[in-house]
Amino acid sequence: MQMQIQKKGDEILKRIESQSKVSLFSKDFWYGSIMDWSMKNEHFKTQMFRFVDVLPSLNSGSDVAKHLKEYFSESGEELPSVFNVGLGLGSLAPALMAGAIRKNVTQMAKMFIVGENPEEALPVLKKARKNKICFTVDILGEATLSEKEALEYQSKYLELIEWLGKDAKNWDEIEQIDRDHEGAIPKVNVSVKLTALYSQINDKAWDVTKTHLKDRLRPILVSAMNKNIFINLDMEQYAVKHLTLEVFKELMMEPELKNYPHFGVVIQAYLRDSLADIKDLVRFSQERGTHFSIRLVKGAYWDHETMEAEQQRWPIPVYTNKKESDANYEACAEYLLQNFKYIRAALASHNVRTIAAAIVAAEKLGVPNNGFEIQMLFGMADPIKKSLVDMGYRVREYSPVGDLIPGMAYLVRRLLENTSNESWLRGKFADGKSSEQLLADPKMNLQITSPLPSQENRFYNEAFKDFAFAENRKALQEALDLSKRSLGQTIPLHIGGKNITSSRTLSRENPSNKEQILGQISAANKEEAEQAFQAAQKAFLSWKIKPANERADLIDRLADLMTRDRYQLMATQILEVGKPWAEADGDVAEAIDFCRYYARHMRELAKDQKMGKVPGELSLYNYHPRGVTLAIAPWNFPLAILTGMAAAAVVTGNTVIMKPAEQSSLVAYGLMKLIQEAGFPPGVFNLLSGYGEEVGEYLVQYPHVATIAFTGSKAVGLHILREASVHRQGQQQVKRCIIEMGGKNAVIVDNDADLDEAVDGVLYSAFGFSGQKCSACSRVIVLADVYEKFEARLLEATKSIFQGMAEDPRAYLGPVVDEEAYLRILKTIEEAKKNHKMLYQGPEVHGGYFVPPTIFTLVDPNSNLAQQEIFGPVLAMIKARDLTDAIHIANNTEYALTGGLYSRSPANIAKVKAEFEVGNMYINRGITGAMVDRHPFGGFKMSGIGSKTGGPDYLKQFMEPRNITENTIRRGFAPTE
Ligand code: NAD
Repeated sequence: MQMQIQKKGDEILKRIESQSKVSLFSKDFWYGSIMDWSMKNEHFKTQMFRFVDVLPSLNSGSDVAKHLKEYFSESGEELPSVFNVGLGLGSLAPALMAGAIRKNVTQMAKMFIVGENPEEALPVLKKARKNKICFTVDILGEATLSEKEALEYQSKYLELIEWLGKDAKNWDEIEQIDRDHEGAIPKVNVSVKLTALYSQINDKAWDVTKTHLKDRLRPILVSAMNKNIFINLDMEQYAVKHLTLEVFKELMMEPELKNYPHFGVVIQAYLRDSLADIKDLVRFSQERGTHFSIRLVKGAYWDHETMEAEQQRWPIPVYTNKKESDANYEACAEYLLQNFKYIRAALASHNVRTIAAAIVAAEKLGVPNNGFEIQMLFGMADPIKKSLVDMGYRVREYSPVGDLIPGMAYLVRRLLENTSNESWLRGKFADGKSSEQLLADPKMNLQITSPLPSQENRFYNEAFKDFAFAENRKALQEALDLSKRSLGQTIPLHIGGKNITSSRTLSRENPSNKEQILGQISAANKEEAEQAFQAAQKAFLSWKIKPANERADLIDRLADLMTRDRYQLMATQILEVGKPWAEADGDVAEAIDFCRYYARHMRELAKDQKMGKVPGELSLYNYHPRGVTLAIAPWNFPLAILTGMAAAAVVTGNTVIMKPAEQSSLVAYGLMKLIQEAGFPPGVFNLLSGYGEEVGEYLVQYPHVATIAFTGSKAVGLHILREASVHRQGQQQVKRCIIEMGGKNAVIVDNDADLDEAVDGVLYSAFGFSGQKCSACSRVIVLADVYEKFEARLLEATKSIFQGMAEDPRAYLGPVVDEEAYLRILKTIEEAKKNHKMLYQGPEVHGGYFVPPTIFTLVDPNSNLAQQEIFGPVLAMIKARDLTDAIHIANNTEYALTGGLYSRSPANIAKVKAEFEVGNMYINRGITGAMVDRHPFGGFKMSGIGSKTGGPDYLKQFMEPRNITENTIRRGFAPTE
């Protein structure tokens, strides 16, 4: 078999050799020389691809010149001569230079894109047919952010089908490409991307998402079927793989579509589960009774998949060794060909070894040459295509049509592919590898890799739940059902190891559903606060001398229990504070992270540090706990913040009184139960739910509280600072206050920003959890040139999001936390309407405290709306003249918590990094969702005076550093160290 493959491969290679030597990689052309440089120099490659990506969004010649300089001249690298002109070394004026560069890049894009629109594409497609190459057309587009954009896409596909279908009636049949072993096949073949058709794809709301996708795709399939056109459903990122396959299968079984064979789907052989998917599809095809096609590809999102999995700590879905993908491709191809009765194979590859192996397998299995087809991308591997055409195979080109802006993302993917070390085309046409190397069996010396993300001995964040898996959706739904069955309980206080039901209670309702009372919360009084202090003080005496490792082990145990009860903890906060699913998942994961991170860090901090290095002296620096800590938490990260503050206090040897927010006491009690189960001694953790002004205030003033860790509003934070500073009778130590407060966070959108990302990131940062995150975006400062375009897309995107009960998995945003917040925010909006232009307010939702997402435009940066924290789904859009103006506006508040920038200008990014005054800055991503260790969190100015949570300095605030110096010389003798 290997011999036959070698022979077949050699035959193809020989045919390639006999053709013109001009290839993609030939250096005579601008593209070739760019590729040559890219392959030799990784840094240049990154800069080049980034430059190509941003180019279409640059409006003026001087902008192009600016970016070119920023990307290429600072590194001091030698540049290909094509750039000399652009860098002032030539004589062209910037505008002319920009034109030249733009022309070259456009030409480069045009090598891979058949046309900017169907009219432009048609002659190209027809010409290919003359050369006996058929096509499948794909429409390139920007990311679909709104339903308007999704519907536009759908119409584009429908029009394309209509138009090509009509024209194709006049096309001559070409036997080699228009017939298979059973007869005529459609001349027109269109590839559709699922994610283009619906803007609200959401794994949590799986069935609703599928219904929408099917509703959008169905008319396209029906129209194609009526015109005898082939439709292929493309495959994109792994995140939508399960969805794509389910949508495909369900549509294929619909009575109207069930008997049409000219539909297809894609399987990516770089996925570890690809062979299993093919087997499943073969079974499915038997059930359907009419065959369909599978395009087998290697997969084009390898970098994305590996990075995404590493970031999320999810199993890596792709093979990490290229040879494994190649070997798996051959296995998949063989399996498909074995089953060609049920599934038609479209073998897509530019690798001659892969193609030869598939052809040999087909021959061995008796599949006729026209019983399968070979697919390649337009603009790539032309000599291979021609060779295969000459050998009589049906070769189809994947032919994208569309605008240049979205085309650039496609172009960059192709450039990456062609310049990758692993690229077969590069090996053949640029690196001149021998035919043995080029045709080697990928199974030879194959190293099997593991799907596990990297496992070093360091802290890793707890992985979020992947709701693309049905078991995760089911588990959360069950936890919600269980929580709802046990509503109405009275939640006790927990003091000195005992549950105590207070004489007074406060009632907590579900903010998504006012009628639903979740429970009665014990509201501690001053006597109970006193008892809690005494219990904590007593426990402190023995807890502080417990070895740090043992304290850390217990905190780790608490993390383990939270991991075990993850879904239940999520369900409680979905009901109690109105957190949508993903937000609740994030909060619980963060609570687990705080425990693990602080436990780990404490084990390090517990080691004595030797100071100085002089003989005869032992000087040791170490940390000691301070005493009883009061942890006063907000409701918006109900588990994470309370856990973080309390675990930090306890792991460092203090004891703690936890005072949760009134609105999130059920969550706090859930935590307390796990603390008890973990086995902490009585009095180490105490829980005092109740009113802040009463029990909180009492303990803030209590003379013997050593440390106050507070997270909440500016007003309360400053009040606590004031009260804590008073020296009261009997008080022996200054209270230390770790105070985290609010923000008025801004995102700056630069003229050259990638709007697909900027709109999406701003939308989620502003409206995720109804804008009730301290890190939420409440001001978006957009540069003048791009203001209108950004505004239009943001408006449509906001119109498309769904607001509803937090337990409804569709909810992009749920309610605000309670009636007080609801009334306050609505009043703010009403006030703002008087002085500002309202761009949009979402529809009313009834039954709970739903404040609709609201956007004001052209807001005065000094107005109340732009200055005061609203803590709700209200966004102020502000127009800035230029970047300096934008930074000035951004900094012009009393807060400095989070901030962001969307830009593709290296110089502008550097300027904002240096000048934007915020504790946490995010570039080219949303500004919420800080993760322990990766993004230690906290602000300054009026946003707080603590050092960052989840970072290396946090624990030290709960301890006193001490230094102990011992003279070790006795009678002139000192022990050696
Ligand atoms: P809040 O200030 O109203 O309440 C916070 C806590 O303080 C609650 O437990 C409350 O009972 C208690 N409290 C109220 N009055 C008190 C008093 N006189 N003495 C002692 N305790 C008292 O804040 P909130 O509404 O729960 O949370 C929202 C605020 O928190 C927003 O301003 C937000 O920006 C901020 N926040 C900041 C961060 C951060 O890390 N910087 C994180 C989350 C929330």
